[in-house]
Amino acid sequence: MNPAASAEETAAASAWLKAQRPRAGRWVALAIGLEFANGLLLIAQAWFLAKTLNAVVFDDAGLSAVTHWLWAIFCLFSLRALLGWLSEQAAFEAAAQVKLHVRDRLLRHLFMLGPVKLALERSGDLTTALADGVEALEAYYARYLPAMTLMVLLPSSILVVVLPFDWLAAAIFLFTAPMIPLFMILIGKGAERLNQRQWRRLARMAAHFLDVIQGLTTLKLFNASRREAENIARISEEYRHDTMAVLRVAFLSSLALEFFATVSIALVAVAIGFRLFWGDMDFMPAFFILLLAPEFYLPLRNMGAHYHARMEAIGAAERLVRILDIAPPSIPPGRSPVPELARSTIRYSDVSVVYPDGTRALEGIDFDIPPGERLAIVGPSGAGKTTLINLLLGFVQPDRGRVLVGDTPLDTLDPSVWREQLSWVPQRPHLYAGSVADNIRLSRPEASSADVETAARLAYASGFIERLPQGYDTQIGEGGVGLSGGQVQRIALARAFLCPAPLLLLDEPTANLDRESERLIQTALDRLADERTLVIIAHRLDTVRGADRILVVEQGCLLDRGGHDDLLDRCETYRRLVADFAGRV
Ligand code: ADP
Repeated sequence: MNPAASAEETAAASAWLKAQRPRAGRWVALAIGLEFANGLLLIAQAWFLAKTLNAVVFDDAGLSAVTHWLWAIFCLFSLRALLGWLSEQAAFEAAAQVKLHVRDRLLRHLFMLGPVKLALERSGDLTTALADGVEALEAYYARYLPAMTLMVLLPSSILVVVLPFDWLAAAIFLFTAPMIPLFMILIGKGAERLNQRQWRRLARMAAHFLDVIQGLTTLKLFNASRREAENIARISEEYRHDTMAVLRVAFLSSLALEFFATVSIALVAVAIGFRLFWGDMDFMPAFFILLLAPEFYLPLRNMGAHYHARMEAIGAAERLVRILDIAPPSIPPGRSPVPELARSTIRYSDVSVVYPDGTRALEGIDFDIPPGERLAIVGPSGAGKTTLINLLLGFVQPDRGRVLVGDTPLDTLDPSVWREQLSWVPQRPHLYAGSVADNIRLSRPEASSADVETAARLAYASGFIERLPQGYDTQIGEGGVGLSGGQVQRIALARAFLCPAPLLLLDEPTANLDRESERLIQTALDRLADERTLVIIAHRLDTVRGADRILVVEQGCLLDRGGHDDLLDRCETYRRLVADFAGRV
């Protein structure tokens, strides 16, 4: 890894963390204010305690003479407990505000990027960033930031109180105090590097675990599960090793902090002890200062303890900043009203697409989709069929040319309103963990149960759904676990039936569906396409036969277009593809 780039990333992460601070501003200030008040009360408590002890030991005061002091101590003690609790709550709220905002921003960003831009990121990595990454910010805002300010405020207040009583103790405080943060930063810098490395390992490990879980069936089939288990064992071992390294440095730094704090307190105690012995100092101020000495160093030690929160947050922020830096599609979303699709032709005008890695996916594509047409796109794998659809979905932008809806360029339309006009059934539809009804309702959450059942019936899904143990309320696993490929596809079609979108985009499943599912899906599709425009990536003979028009694409170019019979006559590539379709069972 390039260390300069890493230093730059760290600086960017640190700046980003600071930039999020205003979100927590008021709550952090409140937490600091409450904790500071707590510190001032502590000074008062020490004063009353010293006074009480002085009265009892040296002035022979009885219990009744010091009762009011004891009450004051008790009240102060209770008040401090309350303030401590309130400041904890405020600190927690500060962190919650930031976490909420960051999660929201991340999710919006991920949605804006869309699946094509995110295709290069590992989903496990993204999950770690969203869950653990955002969580790692908590200690930074709830602990580290307040500790930073209190480290200055509390010792300075104690110094101001001690100075009039004993300049020598104040001087010892003043000179020893900077030692603690100094050593902490020296050691902390080393730990910071280790911590960032560990964070990267954690992200890698999570990404790997998710890959393995998602690909469990494949791994088992290829007998690769043992090899993969060894891989995981190796990554976990590396992670353990790094964690130990971080812990070693963390323990070393707390040892150094404790050592300096203890030596400094001892120094004050010796300086005071000798003067008491020689009679140069009264008991009351001496005891008061001794009570305050550990409290003087406490905020500094706390700061040391919370310094690792900063390191952890920077490690996490680096990852978050990297995700947020992935540029969304360059064209700002437009706000033009969406033309009525039932009457508008969609026009690809000289469209070329180059992916960020330089892959030329489409070149000079020109064609129209009149309203109500049933258009099939065919071509060999990698020809650019999905890219054609992704252009309509807004997941990729043309490098040259434009896609027009009526006369309005697609990129000037309000994306959310545009997507309401679309219904999309991918080749492998994703079902979410939840009930069957919830999965169908995804396309229209407010739909009634009756509507859901009608949609399922139209998609020929009602038969098998009703045979499930709890019918529409049957819980299905993530990705449609427990259902066959044909059943998942029919649930996805039911989603499309439920959604009144006038433009239906569909990628036909290539996986071998059983004949029955295939026939049902085909009939359902015919129904679905009745009053809508249908653009379908076709892999079946029946589909191309039933289409109004067929586009043949190859290597990103539009090779030919026309009806099934014409294309059979004149297009060699089409003949080859159709022979392929016919051969597919
Ligand atoms: P088809 O759907 O016809 O199989 P695609 O539209 O998926 O073809 O792909 C067309 C070309 O673009 C292929 O060469 C493919 O490798 C490339 N491609 C597709 N998606 C991406 C992507 N996200 N990043 C880079 N290249 C891509």
